[in-house]
Amino acid sequence: MADWAAMGSQRYDAAEIETARQAAWAERDAFATPDPGAGRPAVYIKPSSPFTSGNLHMGHVRDYSIGDAYARFRRARGDAVLFGFGFDAFGLPAEMAAIERGTRPAEWVESCGERMLVQMKRLGFSFDYERAFYSSDEAQYRWSQWLFLTLMEAGLIYRDNATVDWCDTCQTTLAALQVEDGRCWRCHEKVRLIRRPTWFLRLSPYLAENDRNLGQLSDWDELSLKTQRYILGRSDGVEFDLAGAGGGGLEVFTPHAGAVEEARFVLVSPRHSEVGRWAADAAVAKQLDELRSGGWERSARDAATVPVVDTGADAEVAGGGTLPIFVSPLVDARYGPTAALGIPAVDEADEAIAARMPRTATEPLGGGAGAELAPREASRYRAYDFSISRQRYWGTPIPVVHCEQCGVVPVPAAELPVVLPRDVEPTGEGNPLAERPDFLETTCPACGGAAQRETDTLDCHFDALWLWVPAAVPPADRDERMFTHPDLEHWLPSERLVAGNDSGGFVFDQRVVTKALRDIGPFAFLADGEPFAGCLFHEMVIADGRKMSKHLGNVVDPDELVAEHGADTVRLAVLYAAGPAKALNWTDGALRFASRFLRGLWDYTHASIAAAAGVPEDAEAAADTAFIRERLGKWCDNGVARIAADLEQLQMHKAIRNITRLLERIKDYEKRVRKRRGQLSREDFDTLLEALALLARTLSPFAPHIAEELLEALGEDPSVGFPPGGESPPLSMARNN
Ligand SMILES: [Zn+2]
Ligand SMILES: [Zn+2]
Repeated sequence: MADWAAMGSQRYDAAEIETARQAAWAERDAFATPDPGAGRPAVYIKPSSPFTSGNLHMGHVRDYSIGDAYARFRRARGDAVLFGFGFDAFGLPAEMAAIERGTRPAEWVESCGERMLVQMKRLGFSFDYERAFYSSDEAQYRWSQWLFLTLMEAGLIYRDNATVDWCDTCQTTLAALQVEDGRCWRCHEKVRLIRRPTWFLRLSPYLAENDRNLGQLSDWDELSLKTQRYILGRSDGVEFDLAGAGGGGLEVFTPHAGAVEEARFVLVSPRHSEVGRWAADAAVAKQLDELRSGGWERSARDAATVPVVDTGADAEVAGGGTLPIFVSPLVDARYGPTAALGIPAVDEADEAIAARMPRTATEPLGGGAGAELAPREASRYRAYDFSISRQRYWGTPIPVVHCEQCGVVPVPAAELPVVLPRDVEPTGEGNPLAERPDFLETTCPACGGAAQRETDTLDCHFDALWLWVPAAVPPADRDERMFTHPDLEHWLPSERLVAGNDSGGFVFDQRVVTKALRDIGPFAFLADGEPFAGCLFHEMVIADGRKMSKHLGNVVDPDELVAEHGADTVRLAVLYAAGPAKALNWTDGALRFASRFLRGLWDYTHASIAAAAGVPEDAEAAADTAFIRERLGKWCDNGVARIAADLEQLQMHKAIRNITRLLERIKDYEKRVRKRRGQLSREDFDTLLEALALLARTLSPFAPHIAEELLEALGEDPSVGFPPGGESPPLSMARNN
């Protein structure tokens, strides 16, 4: 073969190739979102929403490499593809980073986002960047406020007291990650727990439906379904009625259907709707209050230490017997805000509680005849409402005002957005919004009197409830029709969510809100209330078997890898190293594999092109090797079908393995022809080059830059990616046969 390597122009130079291809994509606007209503299948591929940290990490690279390969594959198969995202830009980490740097969060977030966009483009991700957005933009959070008001009107948002950490020195509430060993991250003074009004999102009306639908989500991978089941925390068992002290009955639940007669006490959640019935006694009321202000949410799982209050009351059992009633958050941690039987004989946690309480029943219930109790089959969910407000600056302002005459009054939708001042440089002390009269002072929409704005902001978890919607709406139409644009009916539900395994909570709540918006109206076209028809969760990227962290000094920087090896090699390595359901333990091995494969393919393709130059036709030789060409044709057919099937399942590591096998087959073909004839005829070379072009097309979803460059070298149209479905590969052996 020709010593092509001596020819500098054909050496594999990743940086040069990738710059050129990316310029070509921009030139031909390759990733613009097409009209979803033009008859082709509309496929919305939703990647995870990056937090504006300023740097992509390897988890992002994994996430977007999977989504990008899938997006490129579906485009090449003729589908209308939307591949877009927005930055999750509000929240505490951005505020803390800004405090640390003495800058404004608004500026910090913007510079971070810009930098990350450069990184994404350098990696060759085929997002429709025109559709990117920041959750902290006014045009965006205006709709977060609209959603808040809409859900509040539907009774799904309410205000209640919650326990929060408070620093007396800084005069501010603290998030869990701002408390280190019980001390404030900023001043290192001890923090204490206080009760204060907090906004909550009500999940309970949709828990059962979220549960039921899991059985129909056939395009969800096992990892993602597992997270949904875990968050639901469903327990199956029986329930029946006791005559509770303080009047009225008490419905109790237990997962131990066969052991109800062995019950020794009843454990009631402090969130139980009727817990007040047992708090008539002043001493008990005081204990309940202490329990609530004790921050028990955080320590509710350990039966040996969890707070338990003896109400002094008993519940009566049909057929005979009584059970003492205790209150403990242990119930919440196991079955949600309900009442549960304590059955020490069959339940370890109940045994631990019984050992701590001086007062438990001793006789079998119902005179030993369980039938008297009339148990019904029942389930309970551990999932429960969660708080959505934070006492911090960098978030969506909550669109309500406080009026002395009228109480809490929603801001009329026409007056949105309630604008967050952007010129704030938080210090971590006090509440910046409460110190801004221009923000705080307003008039009451109801009575016109003086009023004050809510100074809590929404947790970024609330913004995330609908962060999957805006990409499906053309930017120019978002002001007017964010939730009512006709494109939404084409793009939704998203064909596939690709996200990290830690996104289960976000996704669960997004599923709840979609159902709420279906019932309220805008998403009525989503009959099952599911935002994602398919879902792929991937595990994280680790190093040396451990989570990457600055502290451990094992962080891998994607920028450095790309600079050294090129984007294609990094993408291929990340995809090849592990299937999505497995943690990706980053080693140089995967990089070496990817680098060797791409260079090998580059060299072999160019060597083949050079060797084929000027070789004349030879009908007799061609007839003699026709059967070998035919066999290669079948291998190619098979290979493409397998790779396509892997791509449909988003099993990119398998697809890449099948691509490497196809290259081996192609090389084997050449060897066989040489063995038979000593050399390749024109016809043999044509088939070889066509097979290599086909291989480059199968590679294009994974390593798009080099794939296009090879196609161009082979005289093919580089903009045609993965071979279209339903067709045989256009190899010339068919013609020459
Ligand atoms: Zn402090
Ligand atoms: Zn008023």
